[in-house]
Amino acid sequence: MLPLVYHPAYSFPFDEKHRFAMSKFGRLFAYLNQRGLVDPSQLYRPAKAKASLIALAHDAAYVSQFIEGTLPFKAMREIGLPWSAQLVERSLISPVGTLLTAQLALRHGLACHVAGGTHHAHYDHGRGFCVFNDLAIAAKSLVKQGLAERVLIFDCDVHQGDGTARILADDSSVFTCSVHCKQNYPARKALSDLDVEVEKGAADEVYLLAVHDAMAQCAASFSPDLVIFDAGVDVFAGDRLGLLDVSMEGIRIRDESVLRFWRGRGVPVATVIGGGYDHDHAALAERHGSIFETAVQLKSDGVV
Ligand SMILES: [Zn+2]
Repeated sequence: MLPLVYHPAYSFPFDEKHRFAMSKFGRLFAYLNQRGLVDPSQLYRPAKAKASLIALAHDAAYVSQFIEGTLPFKAMREIGLPWSAQLVERSLISPVGTLLTAQLALRHGLACHVAGGTHHAHYDHGRGFCVFNDLAIAAKSLVKQGLAERVLIFDCDVHQGDGTARILADDSSVFTCSVHCKQNYPARKALSDLDVEVEKGAADEVYLLAVHDAMAQCAASFSPDLVIFDAGVDVFAGDRLGLLDVSMEGIRIRDESVLRFWRGRGVPVATVIGGGYDHDHAALAERHGSIFETAVQLKSDGVV
């Protein structure tokens, strides 16, 4: 079965009307259990990060101020989530979850995190519901530990991975690729190692070609020994913040083609769920289930 990484602290009681669906992680995990996709012997629970791990990608003062709850009001407003002890807890656990998923992927070929993809978190500030950048932290930690030499962050969330791009701009061990909607947030884009922009309103055919083109370019210019795949579902046509017109079948094909592409080249893949926005949290959680369903299917078919 597929190694899964999850912690119950990912979801905590939260304003149900808030744009950020805090309940989606717990709902997604329940949905995966319901579908029989969770093997208890392959389920891993990450610990809380020490500040030093977070500081691999972030300013130490920002990290300690967030943990202590002393960030200025304006900085919390930019993050877009109200400060709470539970928010601190989940923000410290999730990067370890992505790191653990990457370590499991290196061992087993493929592993999935039931969270992760907080790619708008920058070196010394958070933005867009992102506090700490799990992708950058995990990649830096893997390289530092000598577990990987060349990590590709392949980000298919509909929004550009601007925080990831800036944090890792000078890090030649990590290649950042973002496939995103040109007209979407953030208005001021960063410079990833590779940015592939898709026009607003693009549907399956155009979108899937862009994803494939991005992978081919990544493979040609950087040969990774691990891929961290952000399988954001906010590319979905019905997403509240998406602006693209991709169907659920389109998302399924994307996920399958990404897993087949890299696994077919023998490269381990760690997945994170990324963004997804919907008033209907149950529907959103099921949408995020897509990457897990595809991963389990390909695994049982012996493809990945
Ligand atoms: Zn997003």
